[in-house]
Amino acid sequence: MPEDTTPAANHPQGETLAALKAVLDAPWDAPLHIVSSSAQLAEGMTQKLPLWEDRGWIEVDGATYTRALVNQLRQRCAITTFRTPRSGGEKDTMLAARDHAVASYVQSPPQHVPPRVTKSFDLSGAKMSTLTQALAYRGIRASATATERRTTNKHLSEIRACLAPRKGPVQDGEIWSEIRHADIRRVITDFLWKSIHGAYRIGSYWKNIPGYEERAKCRLCGVTESMAHILTECAALERWLIWGYVERAWTRTGRAWSMPSWPSILAAGQATPARTNGKPPRDNAVRLWRILLTEAAYLIWCMRCERVIRHEDEAAWQHDERSVAGRWYLSTNRRLRLDIESTHSRFGRLALKRQIVLDTWHQLVWDVQALPDDWTSVRWVLVGIDPTIVNNAGPGS
Ligand SMILES: [Zn+2]
Repeated sequence: MPEDTTPAANHPQGETLAALKAVLDAPWDAPLHIVSSSAQLAEGMTQKLPLWEDRGWIEVDGATYTRALVNQLRQRCAITTFRTPRSGGEKDTMLAARDHAVASYVQSPPQHVPPRVTKSFDLSGAKMSTLTQALAYRGIRASATATERRTTNKHLSEIRACLAPRKGPVQDGEIWSEIRHADIRRVITDFLWKSIHGAYRIGSYWKNIPGYEERAKCRLCGVTESMAHILTECAALERWLIWGYVERAWTRTGRAWSMPSWPSILAAGQATPARTNGKPPRDNAVRLWRILLTEAAYLIWCMRCERVIRHEDEAAWQHDERSVAGRWYLSTNRRLRLDIESTHSRFGRLALKRQIVLDTWHQLVWDVQALPDDWTSVRWVLVGIDPTIVNNAGPGS
């Protein structure tokens, strides 16, 4: 426990330091839930961060550690939550932790918690402040290296080229706003944002790090790894099986399927499959495409991380077909259920319209004929997608 979690831990700076220590100590692919006595840290990370980043951290108290915390959080691939205690048990645990911190401070020398910052994740100016193109550029200008700007520009131009035949010239602002679309879960927006910036430590990143050069290569294919390789080319079982399931799900809509290219994955919903019988896809089809595509890409990335990190010593280790099928089925069902829950009246005017959910998922829902027309309000059965989509599915590419 860091020395600064003494009685001063109530101070936001103490909380920031304690959170930083927790993030540094936790595996980056394991969920982390940070419970603190005040909501200040949660507010800072969720509400004030764009403002801080927008102003380049000038005059922000304790910017060094807050910035390091944000930087470390962006390197995590599992969920991190911030909240205040919800039960008496959690409050007791927190008080005990505080006592322990005080005792540690008295009994042992203070530990230093380094405000460690990984440069490739320090692009953060653009992350939360991409509301306008000008702000995005400001953030990138402030901290990105020339190489990172090159990577971002390369990806943006690939996306523009991919969209040009169907949509004509596309502004970068449209690309940034598409990845922030309300249909895309926040964690996936983050994934797409980092992918466009080339901010993940994969492939070429390792080439110039002595002793780690081997990590640059895909262990299954032997070529230099990249996000494009992981998502669209790799021989890994999870990659081709998951795209196979997406193909099966998508073709239920009666529309043609083509394996998405790397730029079209980054373009999310803007690069929907071509017209069918000369007709552009309807809004609900675009929505389903946006959801299926981005969820699949993110799941492939997560399963690749598990394969490479958890099985570092077994170069040829692969997920088996059953677990890939189970994971895709589970994640797609969760996404459907998130949609259903979002229609709840407690969300007021922000609630998702039931008809949108029905139109989006109708062709994928299991035994839909046996359900009432409005299956979003069914309480007596758990509505889910048709399991035959994953049973005996062949590779899509
Ligand atoms: Zn590969």
